[in-house]
Amino acid sequence: MPKTPEDIIRGEIRALKGYNVPDATGMVKLDAMENPYPLPPELRGRLARLMEDASLNRYPDSAGSRVKALLRRAFEVPDGTELLLGNGSDELIQVSMMAVARPGAVVLGVEPSFVMFRLIATFVGARYVGVDLREDFSIDIERTLGAIEQHQPPIIFITYPNNPTGNLFDAALIERIIEAAPGLVVVDEAYHAFASRSFLPRLPSHPNLLVTRTLSKLGLAGIRLGVLAGAGNWLGEIGKVRLPYNVNTLSQIVACEMLQHGDVLTDQAAAIKLERRRLLQRLQEMPGVTAYPSDANFILFRIRQAERVFDGLKQRGVLIRSLHGSHRLLADCLRVTVGTPDENTAFLTALTQTLEA
Ligand code: PMP
Repeated sequence: MPKTPEDIIRGEIRALKGYNVPDATGMVKLDAMENPYPLPPELRGRLARLMEDASLNRYPDSAGSRVKALLRRAFEVPDGTELLLGNGSDELIQVSMMAVARPGAVVLGVEPSFVMFRLIATFVGARYVGVDLREDFSIDIERTLGAIEQHQPPIIFITYPNNPTGNLFDAALIERIIEAAPGLVVVDEAYHAFASRSFLPRLPSHPNLLVTRTLSKLGLAGIRLGVLAGAGNWLGEIGKVRLPYNVNTLSQIVACEMLQHGDVLTDQAAAIKLERRRLLQRLQEMPGVTAYPSDANFILFRIRQAERVFDGLKQRGVLIRSLHGSHRLLADCLRVTVGTPDENTAFLTALTQTLEA
């Protein structure tokens, strides 16, 4: 008798629901923290011409040297810090966990945070321990240090700003976590384009600190390019786990071109930040809505009967994300990505209509 998935696939994998990506065809899409703006036509034309000349018969540059050099400049990476490229920063989270995973190893994070930390830990056979944030979404430092002491995690993930809460944690508390950690601390800066602070300049003073960044939220989610920055001794080992050609040729070409025209994307990020202010203000003015200030390109808000509101928005053609039921601290919480002014107005109108229905 051939074996079935029940015999072969690990129980913890079978128990997973998997990462859910809903179909957004025809919707105002405000669920995935994408930059809503297309690239200017002349830049698209230039990219198309570069595609024509791409040597698709050859494997990509495995090291991604040119991309790295341009990223170094764009992100002001400190001297002495190395970079590793990933197929999105998702992959870099995966690769760094794979490199440290061994039976019984604990991956530590705070909760609620990015759901992939828990999922990937499960994929690689590690045990995920999530330490709850306080009610105001700040780090509960005593509990976090206690959990570090108890579990001795080889790797800890902190998102800065945090997804889905949108806040930047107190940097002094992250420093205390880095000091107390027996292994690596990864500060995930996926939303850095919308925040004013970073741990990247602190890399030289912390040998066990790694920082991830991504081009996804900046406006290039489709090319899947993430960056892991840190000391060479760690990246040398983690890099061995990476597949040799993980960043494809077309993505490298687009990244190089865009990094030479970085102001296009940073101008778009500035427009998103302006809209974030308007959207937050409008949400805070709505009766029965608690909207949380954000340093990212999305806003978390709490509203009565969140599931009903989420469905009402969907029926009106607006797709956001419901977090209700995912964590105790997120009861009745929804998360909306900041879109274009028109998209945000469509969302606010649909929200008002849903509440009045
Ligand atoms: N980190 C955080 C905190 C995120 O929210 C996301 C995307 N939702 C990622 C990493 C992954 O981004 P990407 O793989 O597109 O770089």
